[in-house]
Amino acid sequence: MSERSLNILIVGGGIAGCSAAIALSQRGHAVRIVEKQDAWRFQSSGIFVYANGLVSLDELGLLDEILQAGFPVPAGRNAYFDHKGVPITDTFYPSADNGRIPAILGIKRAEMHRVMAQRVDALGVTVTLGTTVDAIRDEGDSVRAVLSDGTEETADLVIGADGVRSAMRALIGIGLEPRYTGFGVWRSVHRRPQALTDKIMMMGPGIRFGIMPISDDMLYTFGTLAEPKSRFYDPAGWPEHMRTKFADFSGPASLFLEELGPDSQVLYTAVEEVGLELPWHRGRVVLIGDAAHASTPFMGQGGAMAMQDAVVLAEALALHETLDGALDAFGKARLPVCQFVQGVSHAVGEAGAKELDGDLEARNADLRKTAQEKVDQFYGRLAELNAEAETALRKGAASG
Ligand SMILES: Cc1cc2nc3c(=O)[nH]c(=O)nc-3n(C[C@H](O)[C@H](O)[C@H](O)COP(=O)(O)OP(=O)(O)OC[C@H]3O[C@@H](n4cnc5c(N)ncnc54)[C@H](O)[C@@H]3O)c2cc1C
Repeated sequence: MSERSLNILIVGGGIAGCSAAIALSQRGHAVRIVEKQDAWRFQSSGIFVYANGLVSLDELGLLDEILQAGFPVPAGRNAYFDHKGVPITDTFYPSADNGRIPAILGIKRAEMHRVMAQRVDALGVTVTLGTTVDAIRDEGDSVRAVLSDGTEETADLVIGADGVRSAMRALIGIGLEPRYTGFGVWRSVHRRPQALTDKIMMMGPGIRFGIMPISDDMLYTFGTLAEPKSRFYDPAGWPEHMRTKFADFSGPASLFLEELGPDSQVLYTAVEEVGLELPWHRGRVVLIGDAAHASTPFMGQGGAMAMQDAVVLAEALALHETLDGALDAFGKARLPVCQFVQGVSHAVGEAGAKELDGDLEARNADLRKTAQEKVDQFYGRLAELNAEAETALRKGAASG
């Protein structure tokens, strides 16, 4: 298959879809994206990209532009405070490639998308906005997709990169619905005081408030707490809700909470998870990104997992003789990594939600003792799993 150029249809132009389009067209495949939104619209604030995600961006050839558009946190420092602003401890995330790749970068999500969309365009990928797939027919040696504009597309491979609420999952007969996690996330965007350069995590009892620079002049804040299922908040009231919900926070949070008003950029998200068992493909259709493995955001890794899916999928297609072999190997390589991230992220969220007021001193003492060790263990294990996945991907190719 390494020599053959495939005709590939990608459904969804988010992080996973754009990354896949870049990785695959760089390897000579003919790629088209269909995206449901009628214009690129990113109603979001910021996103963290840790070193492993930046490595994928490097492999996609986007690292320099992303570093320019975002804000690499000096020394990868994360400063923990309690909710009253008393410092608890600092941790440092690992960089990659002997420090060439920073430990952690904050970036406005729309900026990340701008960089990706420009590259997609420069590579000649056709992007059709305002369009989705209504039906899929696998015809053995090709797959036909009926698009919502009434046209039909024949492809060698269809990639479902349509996010946590993926319609492609159902179209290929997977009846898995996203699971509500019990958490809501409130995010807001502000001007960055020049002295604020760390990632900040403020730890209340069962409630968190974080601050992260995303550019030379902007930062975003994110507050997480338990929220009842199906709780609807009218977007017009989001700034006021955010201010009220995190009113117990002071110290570094105060300035930003006080700033919140009707014109603030605030976003509320009820967090859902997807844990799809293998296989992630049916015939010639494969699911990637959140469509296959949406995670809670506590490790800030969902975007990185989506980008790495794209890189590994392109590699699997190059290494394996048959499409089925490549898709099978792709899923097997990615599942352990994504499940590990999901599991740790889920556990972090659950542990935080169970805290009570009276537990805080013990919690803080534990943080001082173990927080750095936990960071090191997480990234150490992630690196091991990635190395195992790479070996498995290559071994399968040699034997199959
Ligand atoms: C509150 C919160 C905070 C997060 N913070 C971080 C973070 O700091 N760092 C990080 O790495 N990750 C973070 N994540 C996770 C990250 O956002 C996701 O993992 C990532 O966006 C997944 O990319 P994706 O392309 O798979 O899905 P999406 O980003 O959801 O993109 C899917 C795309 O498909 C389109 N689409 C949907 N349905 C259809 C359809 N039927 N047809 C055509 N197109 C369709 C959508 O319009 C969209 O463009 C966070 C998640 C949440 C909920």
